[in-house]
Amino acid sequence: MSAPEILVLGSVNRDLIVHAPRLPLPGETLRGQRFGSCLGGKGANQAVAAARLGARVALAARVGLLENGASMVAQLQAEGVDTRAIAQPADEVPGVALIVVGAEDAENQIVTVAGSNGTLPLAQVEALEVAGLRWLVAQQELPLESVARAFQRARAAGVKTLLNAAPYRAGCEALLRHADVLVVNALEAQALVTTLGGRAAEPEALAQALRAHGPSAVLVSLGAEGLCWVDDQATRRVPALPVKAVDTVGAGDTLVGALVTALAEGQAIDQALAFAQAAAALAVSRAGVQDAMPRRAEVEQRLA
Ligand code: ADP
Repeated sequence: MSAPEILVLGSVNRDLIVHAPRLPLPGETLRGQRFGSCLGGKGANQAVAAARLGARVALAARVGLLENGASMVAQLQAEGVDTRAIAQPADEVPGVALIVVGAEDAENQIVTVAGSNGTLPLAQVEALEVAGLRWLVAQQELPLESVARAFQRARAAGVKTLLNAAPYRAGCEALLRHADVLVVNALEAQALVTTLGGRAAEPEALAQALRAHGPSAVLVSLGAEGLCWVDDQATRRVPALPVKAVDTVGAGDTLVGALVTALAEGQAIDQALAFAQAAAALAVSRAGVQDAMPRRAEVEQRLA
């Protein structure tokens, strides 16, 4: 297996999804219509998004082998993700997200348990092979001190760092100074700026405020409106590709996986942002999260 150019440090979950006529009330038992399970977690999603687009990508994670965790690692491998940096403790349960989708009210209810994601130790981060990488990517579903240490080690080795500050967590602002690129949605941007004692409303101002805390470039994603990118050269507002939205869950993960793929290839920023948004729009136009992530040819066709 050739050496990875992108390392994603992040969570792996099993998503257990039931479709019910509506959400249950406390203490109520409902008859649902459908059940399915799939691989999820922001780390796994972003690694799979990049792999589908042709990146040489590895995932550093912790997947307990109880509850059939081995099948989750096998699925990542089948997607072309390098899984050698995934710790597989025999006596831990993998992360899980229990999702109820209520048809009538188009609402959902989610409970996540971090499982082995929550125990990823500093020792695992210290042992990561970072020399030779172009980019390290992380989100915030792992212990934050492990993310901070990985970013420090990457930077010391000349590797660029991308932080997707999602989900927002207390204390995550301390990670900003380790990030070259920060990717957040508008709500996360707002939460971060408020925590840092700033005030801003417009995406450009939010991005600029966040740049003052470390990252040289900030991307604020704006759902169907597209995104705003601010770096030391310019401020860009890029509209989303028009698609009929079917399922927007995981849009941000596809955007991050595609963006880092383009950046690792050395694409110019305008081109990289267009590539990332084309991938995200295609994912939004289909049901599912990883199931909906596009392959390279589709994205290129969309951009042609
Ligand atoms: P998150 O999933 O993290 O909340 P967003 O909702 O901002 O992130 O979506 C991330 C990206 O996905 C957007 O910047 C855009 O490129 C794309 N996207 C999201 N929703 C749509 C949509 N309805 N139509 C087209 N593209 C979309």
